[in-house]
Amino acid sequence: MSLRFRVLGSGSTGNATLVEGGGVRILLDAGLGPRELAERLQSVGVDPASVDALFLSHEHQDHARGAVSFSRKWGVRICGSRGTYAAMGLGAEDFAGYDVLEADKPRAVGSLTVRGVPVPHDAAGPFAFVVANGSTSLGHATDFGHVSRTFVEAFRDCDAVLVESNHDPDLLRRGDYPWSLKERILGPRGHLSNQDVARFVAQGLAETCRTLVLAHLSQKNNHPELAQGCIEGALARRGRTEVKVAITDADGTGWVEVGTPPPPGQSGGGKQLRLF
Ligand SMILES: [Zn+2]
Ligand SMILES: [Zn+2]
Repeated sequence: MSLRFRVLGSGSTGNATLVEGGGVRILLDAGLGPRELAERLQSVGVDPASVDALFLSHEHQDHARGAVSFSRKWGVRICGSRGTYAAMGLGAEDFAGYDVLEADKPRAVGSLTVRGVPVPHDAAGPFAFVVANGSTSLGHATDFGHVSRTFVEAFRDCDAVLVESNHDPDLLRRGDYPWSLKERILGPRGHLSNQDVARFVAQGLAETCRTLVLAHLSQKNNHPELAQGCIEGALARRGRTEVKVAITDADGTGWVEVGTPPPPGQSGGGKQLRLF
């Protein structure tokens, strides 16, 4: 089944990802200003009013900054956790509407289903998402402090995974952030390090996964080549050379097709999982 996505923005300057499949378009997060978000959609030929739903992972500004204004201007309903709704104070706002997404109760939008997966982050009810069109699925996870069993189980059949690879712990410790902020980022409800992602891909990445996009890299406490080297090394040690690793910066990516079958002669396509 068709499924593709493109990152429109990533990192502390603003996160948003467009996902398309089966004639449906959804946004995951709206952390860019509403005008910027609309312009980035229009620049790739997408009418903002044609977006069927906007899913919010959590209330932090770099994920939700443009949500209400975008919803109001283009008539796009928002969907997210009850905690996100409360933390954003949306009850008093006049906008296109808010649907509560319950953990593990997938929401259908046309032929797409979106499942909210609770993740450990210092926000009110934050979610990662698994977006599926039939048996083809994308796992999308930014802003979480550690890889939980719940997360691994939820992502075990994904054909593509976008995951944050926020920082290198040594760069973070040596950097000039205040200690309280370093503690927050390094903590179990903070952000995932390159090494955390390396452990996840070595032990928990689905056998079905062929595409891994590293996102939400810190501009101060990480380098793209450091993240890519760390994670590609972990994949190579597992013999997972079929997994393509890409990095998104603040400007996003081109279209990424999900679930493209492996070339003839290569194994793959099974749904066995590695136990975490
Ligand atoms: Zn963030
Ligand atoms: Zn956050």
